[in-house]
Amino acid sequence: MSAEPATPASQSEDLLRLHDALALSNLKYKNLFELAPVGYLFLTPVGQVQEANLAAARLFGQPGALLTRSNVQVFVRNEDRAAVRAHLQRVTTGESDALEVRALHSDGRQVPVSIRSTAILDAEGVVAGLHMAVMDISSHKDAEMELRRARDHLQHLAHHDPLTALPNRSLFADRLRQALMRAQRRMSCVALLFIDIDRFKFINDSLGHQVGDQFLCEIARRIRASVRAVDTVARIGGDEFTVILERIDHRGQAEEVARKILDALRLPVALGSQGHRVPVSSSIGIAMYPEDGTSGEELFLHADTAMFAAKEQGRDRVESFTSALDERLSGRVAIESELRNVAADGQLRLLYQPQFDGSNGRIVGVEALLRWQHPVRGLLRPAEFIDVAEDSGLIEQLGLWALRQACRQGRLWHERGHSLQIAVNISTRQLALPAFVDDLAAVLRESRLPADALELEITENALLANAEVVLAHLHDMRALGVQVVLANFGTGLSSLGRLRRLPIAKLKIDGSFVQGIPHSQGDSDVARAIISMARDFALTVASEGVESPEQRAFLEASGCNLLQGYGLGRPLPAGGIDALLDASR
Ligand code: C2E
Repeated sequence: MSAEPATPASQSEDLLRLHDALALSNLKYKNLFELAPVGYLFLTPVGQVQEANLAAARLFGQPGALLTRSNVQVFVRNEDRAAVRAHLQRVTTGESDALEVRALHSDGRQVPVSIRSTAILDAEGVVAGLHMAVMDISSHKDAEMELRRARDHLQHLAHHDPLTALPNRSLFADRLRQALMRAQRRMSCVALLFIDIDRFKFINDSLGHQVGDQFLCEIARRIRASVRAVDTVARIGGDEFTVILERIDHRGQAEEVARKILDALRLPVALGSQGHRVPVSSSIGIAMYPEDGTSGEELFLHADTAMFAAKEQGRDRVESFTSALDERLSGRVAIESELRNVAADGQLRLLYQPQFDGSNGRIVGVEALLRWQHPVRGLLRPAEFIDVAEDSGLIEQLGLWALRQACRQGRLWHERGHSLQIAVNISTRQLALPAFVDDLAAVLRESRLPADALELEITENALLANAEVVLAHLHDMRALGVQVVLANFGTGLSSLGRLRRLPIAKLKIDGSFVQGIPHSQGDSDVARAIISMARDFALTVASEGVESPEQRAFLEASGCNLLQGYGLGRPLPAGGIDALLDASR
């Protein structure tokens, strides 16, 4: 069966339907074009805007009619115009192409946009125009910026100290490595300064961590202000800072900078809400590239060694690295390992120095002084090992041995009818031990020495460290009946107000003042003032280091209660004190 031929009437109906369908489709696409949230433009092949939708008009801040009078290039900032031209050229070759540029809004804003264009080809395949989609990507860009900022922040955190914002140990190591590479190329020097704040622990422990943090920030600020902007200042530990000085000609220059830092750090720091003015000092070690080391590790180690030497030599000073320092440090390490077993090996000794009543010259007490009978080096005084023992913690063991030994010996003298006061030195570290008072009570029980015959000598610095614990221990010691003596008096920082509230029985004038008596007016005045103040506070006062008859006469005339020194009696083994006691009978 063949199809019926179309009549003219049915043909025109078909055409009408087709026309309607086309009109509907046109309307649909027109609506889609107008209402799309993305900016759409129809362009000539050279970029002249022929049609723009609402979103495009909004994006550029121009009515559609204005847009259509211009080339699309005028709607992007100057710097991006060449890129847009190249983009249009690429698209006219038939490629589809994308680009990110900044569009210019009529209100002056630059809006980051993403552009994607394709060519519109006619029936012969010739480019009749271009179709361009323009999308506002500011929110993507904001997110990207946010991400970059977060990444930068993390990066900063990983390489900087959060408290002072200075470079941390890892960034410092990196900067040092780079500085050494540059110095090697230029054949120049680099100085590494190692700065340690003296007694920072005391400040932190006595004034609290918040104040300690405030203190460190001020220290960091002062170091930073003392060097050039190009120099690296880093915080590499609690109270440890380093400075890398590049383009330096010789060691003298580095020492000059170090002294400048030392001076800047010496000014008291006002801290806390009450603005406490805390005295401060530091110890600085210097190592130079290439003289003292060629690698970062070696320089660091040597600057640390020099800093350690500065501490050993009394703190508040600058020391440069030398090979002799290195040997001394090795010596300290050797002492520390040998010290570990001294008590068990029976190498410790106690000497006793007699103390005399200033009014009648009778022996009333002894001070126990520790010695180390070294198998090779002979009898060593505390100056040769006590610091190492303090730093390594071994002092706890040594101190307990001395206390036990002195109490046993004291008990023997008491049994023989000599009611001597037995003075024992207690180190700062020992005094702060939680078990200190329990150990003391146990030693007194074991030895059966009457508690009031025992005197414990502490230094003014012990009062600064762990102030609360130490004060509690002083009260507990008094409750046991033991006397507390503040030794080396006059060299520390005790305020008179504080002294009055402390449970101490006796002050001991430091030997350095006694040395100047009677020739130095200053020393004589200090000694007299301490004696008079002790009397006002109802404290007994003793003097150590009395060597000459003049010193003795001066102190006796000033009313000093007790005298001790080579001029009256040297430290002796217990047997020597026995002989003195027998002779005095
Ligand atoms: P210190 O408590 O000030 O002891 C006095 C020091 O001065 C002793 O030195 C003593 O021998 C010395 N000395 C006494 N009279 C004179 C004098 O007239 N002239 C001079 N120039 N010096 C005199 P030593 O025995 O070397 O002790 C030094 C320091 O070591 C002591 O100073 C004390 O702080 C510490 N020490 C001694 N024994 C112990 C101990 O068992 N434990 C602790 N933690 N420290 C101790």
